[in-house]
Amino acid sequence: MLKKNFFVISILCLISLALSAADKKSDTNSTEAAKPSYELPQPAKENLDLTMYQRIRDEGLGHSHIMEYASALADGIGPRLTGSPNLKRANEWTRDQLTAMGCSNAHLEDWGEFGMGWQQLNTWVRMASPDTAVFIAQASPWSPSSNGAVSGPAVSVEIKKDEDLDKYKGKLGGKIVLLGEMRDVKPVDKPLFEREDEKTLAKIAEYPLLEENEYAQYLRDFPRRMELQAKIWNLLASEHPLGVILPSRDGRNAGGSGGTIFDDSRGIGQYAYKREKAIPVPVVVMAIENYGRVYRLLKSNVPVTIEMNVDTKFTGDHEHGFDTIAEIPGADPKLKDEVVMVGGHLDSWASGTGATDNGAGTVVAMEVMRILNALQVKPRRTIRIGLWTGEEQGEFGSAGYVKQHFGFVPLSTAPDQLKLPEWRRKPAGPIQLKPDQEKISGYFNVDNGSGKILGVYLQENAAVKPIFAQWMEPLKDLSVTTLTMRETGGTDHESFDEVGIPGFQFIQDGLDYGSRTHHSNMDVYERLQPGDLAQAATVEAIFVYNTAMRDQMLPRKPLPHPELEEQRKAPLKKVMPGAEEVPEAKENK
Ligand SMILES: [Zn+2]
Repeated sequence: MLKKNFFVISILCLISLALSAADKKSDTNSTEAAKPSYELPQPAKENLDLTMYQRIRDEGLGHSHIMEYASALADGIGPRLTGSPNLKRANEWTRDQLTAMGCSNAHLEDWGEFGMGWQQLNTWVRMASPDTAVFIAQASPWSPSSNGAVSGPAVSVEIKKDEDLDKYKGKLGGKIVLLGEMRDVKPVDKPLFEREDEKTLAKIAEYPLLEENEYAQYLRDFPRRMELQAKIWNLLASEHPLGVILPSRDGRNAGGSGGTIFDDSRGIGQYAYKREKAIPVPVVVMAIENYGRVYRLLKSNVPVTIEMNVDTKFTGDHEHGFDTIAEIPGADPKLKDEVVMVGGHLDSWASGTGATDNGAGTVVAMEVMRILNALQVKPRRTIRIGLWTGEEQGEFGSAGYVKQHFGFVPLSTAPDQLKLPEWRRKPAGPIQLKPDQEKISGYFNVDNGSGKILGVYLQENAAVKPIFAQWMEPLKDLSVTTLTMRETGGTDHESFDEVGIPGFQFIQDGLDYGSRTHHSNMDVYERLQPGDLAQAATVEAIFVYNTAMRDQMLPRKPLPHPELEEQRKAPLKKVMPGAEEVPEAKENK
């Protein structure tokens, strides 16, 4: 931690200046004072405290402690699957560390019931004949135990459509099932570790026009895939095979090979953590090269015997999820009830130690709080950290927190939508807000791995662009150069954005996140880049500090109105000259 006294005077000056500015405003403009400050005109020029920039840089880059947090979390605690005993430890450890560094009011908040607690104690898989071989494999999360080593003939099962199911009925009992066809394994002829360059950043900065979004396609196919997957697991439940082996999927630049396995819920269904949807047989994900050998032998009609032992433990059926929350209280009597938040998700998958996903975002947010505590800042607004859990299953922790404090979006109850998991359902609106929604200026999130911060996804908030551009000017030498109007998704800033709160995810250097570490057994401490993480904490601390200190809250986008979406997207009527009138088609016909 840092020596103080030298800078106390400058902080006091700053606060008194800020206070007198705030006083003046409310005197001269009493009608406007009733409005939240994000609705007031924003100044053209940001008042930057460059001395504070330098102090934060000195603490964050020159006196970083981020890798100590990283090792404690990744090595000391390990993987943090939601509902697991390890995640409970991580919640408690983060709370205690935040208290120790000087935060106030560090506590855990219950966001609700999650499902089963689960631990992998040990997993091994080997080939016993026609040759012996030791394979690389780990249990799928929430896989049941095999209750000791089991041994049986391997059988290849490929189900792409409903009709394929019948082929296997009555044929899988006592077998080890290789579930899924063998995929291509391309040579790794591109780097697994890459940094963004001017070209890739320019692409991110460009707003996409009418780009068919891969994610939209994924969402469209989602119900169909979910249905077939449920049928496959029903078949397996009734057949009683000894175990199931899934091939590891690929990563970017063919990273899903060479011993890396991606081990999340993709092969086992969305709800494997719910007791009533529990996986019926032991399941492992296996390295693609090992899978390929057995697969080719079976295709050539060579009998293969596999031995496996999946040793797992369930620690409860109704585990709750908790977020870790702590604060640096605001010091300005008029603004201290307003909040700026920083955070990321604390939970992870289970085959690595969750170092980059999202140990990185967790320790960056913790280091932000440590830096600001070490500098003994007296922020005008309250600075609050939120470390979320249940992110990997649907952003449950942040969504629960936002619902309890700020508001929520009612979801569609249309019959087809009710079949989907909540986090896939269409918002129906109108958005229900709580009073504190007007008191939060912004939320900053890190969850794209270990890479340094290169800029910000503005999440289509045009009004905030000139503000962030000015904040970033003194950070250009740290590679912080790029603003994009694009929205980015898939993590916890969305929970805030959905209820009209400015929520931002930073643009980060990609490194080997997409190729090798995201949800994999290689998501470990060695994949963390200390310099990048120190930079990210420094930059995020400056963003958080600026948000806490400026006169106004950050400007907002118009509040979303999901209830008007259908009407706004409907084709215009009577546009085509000469078109004959057709009686309106009845719906549901
Ligand atoms: Zn993540």
